[in-house]
Amino acid sequence: MSDFLRDGLARNYVAGSWVEGDGGARLAVEDPGTAQDFADAALAGEATLARALEAARASFDRGDLADMQPSARGRLLLRVAREIRAIKAEGAEILCRESGKTLDAARDEFEEAALYFEYYGGVADKIEGKSIPLGPDYVDYTIYEPHGVSAQVVPWNFPVSIAARSLAPSMAAGNATIIKSPELDPIALALLGKALERAEVPAGAVSILNGIGGDLGARLVASSAVDQIVFTGSVPTGQAILRAAANTIIPSLMELGGKSAAVVFADADLDELMKSLQSGIFFNAGQVCSAMARVLVHRSIYDEVVPRAVSLADGLKVGHGMDNPEHTPVISATQLSRIETLISTAEQDGARIAAGGRRLECEGHFMAPTILADVSPNARVAQEEIFGPVTCITPFETEAEAIAMANGTEFGLVAGVFTRDLARSHRVARKLRAGQVFVNEWFAGGISTPFGGIGKSGFGREKGLEALYNYVRTKNIAISLKG
Ligand code: NAD
Repeated sequence: MSDFLRDGLARNYVAGSWVEGDGGARLAVEDPGTAQDFADAALAGEATLARALEAARASFDRGDLADMQPSARGRLLLRVAREIRAIKAEGAEILCRESGKTLDAARDEFEEAALYFEYYGGVADKIEGKSIPLGPDYVDYTIYEPHGVSAQVVPWNFPVSIAARSLAPSMAAGNATIIKSPELDPIALALLGKALERAEVPAGAVSILNGIGGDLGARLVASSAVDQIVFTGSVPTGQAILRAAANTIIPSLMELGGKSAAVVFADADLDELMKSLQSGIFFNAGQVCSAMARVLVHRSIYDEVVPRAVSLADGLKVGHGMDNPEHTPVISATQLSRIETLISTAEQDGARIAAGGRRLECEGHFMAPTILADVSPNARVAQEEIFGPVTCITPFETEAEAIAMANGTEFGLVAGVFTRDLARSHRVARKLRAGQVFVNEWFAGGISTPFGGIGKSGFGREKGLEALYNYVRTKNIAISLKG
């Protein structure tokens, strides 16, 4: 058993201390690979939130991070990165068990979290303003200042790396941060508090609270004591948060869902496409906002692509995340039912279930890897985010038709183009309505490449230098030299 769990540290990390739930409340956390309870975590309520808000404000007002020498702030982030690597093995096992993902993917998630802290640690002393020429009688310059208290609400699919993705630039910019962890798998993220504690991040500069979205999350984002909201999650929750933010006029960053399409032309490398399909829709059981949820295939190769996709889906090794299989469970019984319900609409809408289509009869919440073929672009399964191991394949005739189909949902997170024709790849990439386009490799890019959506996929960008500017605001200072 993990030391963290044995020591009962799956608590709330508030003002540098480990705090029990309000009134001793605890939250049961299940292992999706067995459908059995795995552990529990202290559940924060109103009193703990008030304490975290007060501590964050005090930390910000003291200038704990904002007034630290920027290079020292950078070194602090590098120290956090080292401490994250030190807890990686312990954290990965917890994350694997509470989320259902493979142990390797859980390790990678901690590694990615460390990389975010290194990346933003390197830029903490490079957040430079501008000098604006106004003629000889004035000196004018801009500075970037932190917002103050940044409230960050995290989803369950990549709790540790998504939390780090927002926390690292927030700290680099000098904000105090309160993170609300996802209720389905909060414990590995709570462990991140251990890395912050060991790195001697000032008390109150970061708090991590385990809470229920509709309760603690809603209170956090509605609070007039926060200065910024960073949300990653579903569209309905994003809409609820934006309504709350409208009351307080709080700047918000929205990283929401997707229904992303790969456009596969006749000259595509189909071996590469199959590799991309495997990671694009079956990695993390398809519970990825930027999943390859649709595959639009040129009619001339359609009859080759569909059977290859089917044999890929049918051949995946299924198992518990601890055994590092190719296919893992979805997060919960509710999620599994949601996926099955949506798939049940596919055939009525004219699609063919070419592989999978139903849950696997075994312990845990396993959905069969599913390929839906001949999917009409207007079918529900082609329009709504399924958030599971299910992709929709649709044939097209012309480039223009493919672009119209790819752009024909309310979302616009990522998109892909598979072709050996360089001119076409650029031409199509420019026309795709998405924040990021992958050419010939799904998920190409990394922590330094900006990521974010268009339309109902949200607004603002995470990752890369671009993201840093979400965590600061510009102040202009104009000085008259007359007189
Ligand atoms: P969700 O919206 O149900 O929950 C996300 C977080 O919001 C959780 O921490 C939850 O507790 C909290 N929450 C719920 N109701 C709330 C409220 N009223 N006020 C404040 N907080 C509240 O999403 P989920 O099911 O955890 O995650 C899956 C969704 O997230 C998918 O739609 C996926 O596409 C999206 N996602 C997007 C990105 C991205 O970067 N664009 C990354 C990962 C996941």
